[in-house]
Amino acid sequence: MTIEDIASELSAGKNIVITTHHKPDGDAMGSSLGLYHFLCALGHNVHVITPTDYPYFLHWMPGHPEVINFMENETKAAELVASADWIFCTDFNNLTRINELGELVRQSKAKKAMIDHHLEPEGFEDFRYWDTTSCAAAELVYRFIVELGHHDKISKDAATCLYTGIMTDTGSFRFASTTASVHRTIADLIELGADNSRIHELIYDTNSENRLKFLGEVLSNRMVVLKEKHTAYISIDADLLKKYDIRTGDTEGVVNYALSIHGVKLAVLVIDRGELRKLSFRSKAEFPANEVAKKYFSGGGHRNAAGGSSVLSLEDTVAKFLEVLPEYEYLLNE
Ligand code: 5GP
Ligand code: MN
Repeated sequence: MTIEDIASELSAGKNIVITTHHKPDGDAMGSSLGLYHFLCALGHNVHVITPTDYPYFLHWMPGHPEVINFMENETKAAELVASADWIFCTDFNNLTRINELGELVRQSKAKKAMIDHHLEPEGFEDFRYWDTTSCAAAELVYRFIVELGHHDKISKDAATCLYTGIMTDTGSFRFASTTASVHRTIADLIELGADNSRIHELIYDTNSENRLKFLGEVLSNRMVVLKEKHTAYISIDADLLKKYDIRTGDTEGVVNYALSIHGVKLAVLVIDRGELRKLSFRSKAEFPANEVAKKYFSGGGHRNAAGGSSVLSLEDTVAKFLEVLPEYEYLLNE
């Protein structure tokens, strides 16, 4: 389907479901809720369904009270998915990224649209708005709306959500994906009503005392820096999560401290999440973090930010990671 087809589909009121990936981050919620406000303004009946909960520091976002968490409201979510005319999938391109919700989406008679910037799409969709060079799915939602000729339908709430998505996925406009065009989009979103300084505060200055103490202990006692390997890793066991009452979102950004060490090119955070050990990879420059995640930890992502999981114990997962390093020595020692 082309953008013209979508434009004509959206010219009459539709039942629309928007969904995004497991444990949504700022871009997942920013792109979903930005699209939500826009589609509501067009007169559609719209629901955002997340496969799981998402961090407390995103709960201020306009539209949050209307979001349906699949884990808390399976029946209603399943009904909405089954009866939708359209399902928009933002910030992911493979139905395995939305857990059990994936099969329901696959089986739904609804037409599916995918708006995303990740590599290797599965191909479940009828319409794709996909660009792997884009800094954020929220940027693509903005471009999609503009291309539809509806710039005037971007409300203050939509602009706020889209700003948040771009801000979080670009590391506050510092990653290489932050082009001049991204800055122009951001400038436009501010003109449309996004309160940039307030958004930064709401996202980054809402630490609890507990979280900072947790961070202190993690950096002091759980981080290992392999200087000669230009690698740093952090492993966090379930007891530590319990000790500090760590919730969804509290571990966000922890891996970046390891990457910020001078000379470190690859950083990994391994967390014991009960059934699985979850890995977060971050790298600098050419190092393909997504390749390591995909090849050895059933995951994937972007070159410099990727994730995966392991069924091994925390210690064995770390050991497996260390065994992989020699394969990449030539890149790490460059
Ligand atoms: P994070 O470390 O913030 O959880 O994830 C960083 C990036 O890695 C995400 O934006 C996503 O692209 C990717 N990612 C994280 N976990 C997984 C996973 O389990 N599978 C895949 N394919 N990608 C993941
Ligand atoms: Mn994203």
